[in-house]
Amino acid sequence: MTDQFVLAIDQGTTSTRAMIFDHAGKVVSVGQKEHEQIFPKAGWVEHDPTEIWTNTREVVGMALGRASLTHEQIAAVGITNQRETAVVWDRETGEPVYNAIVWQDTRTQKICDELAALGGGAERYKDKVGLPLATYFSGPKIRWILDNVEGAREKAEAGRLAFGNTDSWVLWNMTGGVNGGIHVTDPTNASRTMLMNIDSLTWNEEIAGEMGVPVSMLPEIRSSSEVYGEGRKGGLLPGVKIAGILGDQQAATFGQACFEVGHAKNTYGTGNFMLINTGTEPISSQNGLLTTVCYKIGDQPTVYALEGSIAVTGSLVQWLRDNLGIISSAPEVEQLAATVEDNGGAYFVPAFSGLFAPYWRSDARGALVGLTRYVNKGHIARAALEATAFQTREVLDAMNADSGVDLTELKVDGGMVANDALMQFQADILGVPVIRPQVAETTALGAAYAAGIAVGYWSGEQDVIDNWAEDKRWEPSMDGDERDRQYRLWKKAVTKSFDWVD
Ligand code: ADP
Repeated sequence: MTDQFVLAIDQGTTSTRAMIFDHAGKVVSVGQKEHEQIFPKAGWVEHDPTEIWTNTREVVGMALGRASLTHEQIAAVGITNQRETAVVWDRETGEPVYNAIVWQDTRTQKICDELAALGGGAERYKDKVGLPLATYFSGPKIRWILDNVEGAREKAEAGRLAFGNTDSWVLWNMTGGVNGGIHVTDPTNASRTMLMNIDSLTWNEEIAGEMGVPVSMLPEIRSSSEVYGEGRKGGLLPGVKIAGILGDQQAATFGQACFEVGHAKNTYGTGNFMLINTGTEPISSQNGLLTTVCYKIGDQPTVYALEGSIAVTGSLVQWLRDNLGIISSAPEVEQLAATVEDNGGAYFVPAFSGLFAPYWRSDARGALVGLTRYVNKGHIARAALEATAFQTREVLDAMNADSGVDLTELKVDGGMVANDALMQFQADILGVPVIRPQVAETTALGAAYAAGIAVGYWSGEQDVIDNWAEDKRWEPSMDGDERDRQYRLWKKAVTKSFDWVD
């Protein structure tokens, strides 16, 4: 096994990464490339699927080249991806019929409202699919494309169009595209479409019918860890087994070795996503969390999770950089925030895409409150970072309420966990230790494990547990009264963001 490795493709919201891991779960090499964020109108967010596929090939080439490896040394490939983002393409030409509509995009509000008005409100499909009706999920995005792209509905009804999240899009292209590409997804991705029965992991034809989505467009749902197919001849990975698919947040949960009921992780990226393993039965949330598939390994029982999704965390730092220009790179936010002692009374509720968990308020918009003449850009930077920690506290409270058991520690990962001051503040506001693993790239690692387990490169979950190691731990040190005071002000700030859409 020593000269064999596993490659993960992480098709994320801002970039696509290829990472090669060795048997100890250590990173051997990385290739990464950002893709364009397209904002055609307020609330719309798109990606170019062709650019994503071109970048995928490029980063795989980079990762192999940097490690001086050939495809023969790759035992398996795993795919992980931004979830919900919807790609619709023509099976005959291989061309996307429209840009990918990204998970943050809110253009489907009207479609969601119309479906809710059929009866049952936002919870119309919750019992069947585990999700509230919200612009976040793929189903209404597919409907929008079929309603708005000329000729798309006829082609879809004739069976010519295929839908996928970016996992299916990349897999279809990797396995041959128009020359026999396979059209497959896994239950973690399918559970974010609003179209999959959460109990049976099958497409729900009734909901698809109401949503106006022909079932023939949907990929086959296979497990998260099995051999789906092989890299196409003439490609970069000819004959290499593609053997794992996990949505990015579920992949991170797997990579963090959250295999037991009650184990949880929180990923700090563009948005934040906390998942808690709830075992082999789906649990319905009473506190604004999503019921989702955590993973399904081959023919083993499905493992479920409750998820708290927060739309805007790291992307608020990007907004400070790109829209306000008060920092020139994301990490610079640390220096700017360190120029002040505290937030100066400012609270920043980044409800740019409405508010996700635990509120699910699409009528909310961003609010910066508590301003006085005293507040400067350092305070705003600090308030922006603190927003991540406060939103996380709200999700953790919801998880504790749903499970009836208080989490005693939180495993973290993602781009923002490099920020030491933020992680300390997070521990302070939660009142529990925050723990970062040595391999912070748990998303790619989780996908690699799913693929490696399917081909016998790793024997199973115990290898993942054995390879996991702690890097750093932040202990809470804030006085309890001060914690309560700040959190109370945050909650008040949140109410100021409500009811802002006409
Ligand atoms: P994704 O996988 O969602 O694309 P990453 O996990 O790569 O995101 O994290 C990138 C995010 O982290 C960006 O939104 C960026 O603004 C934020 N970020 C990066 N470095 C820092 C830092 N030092 N402090 C705070 N935020 C940061």
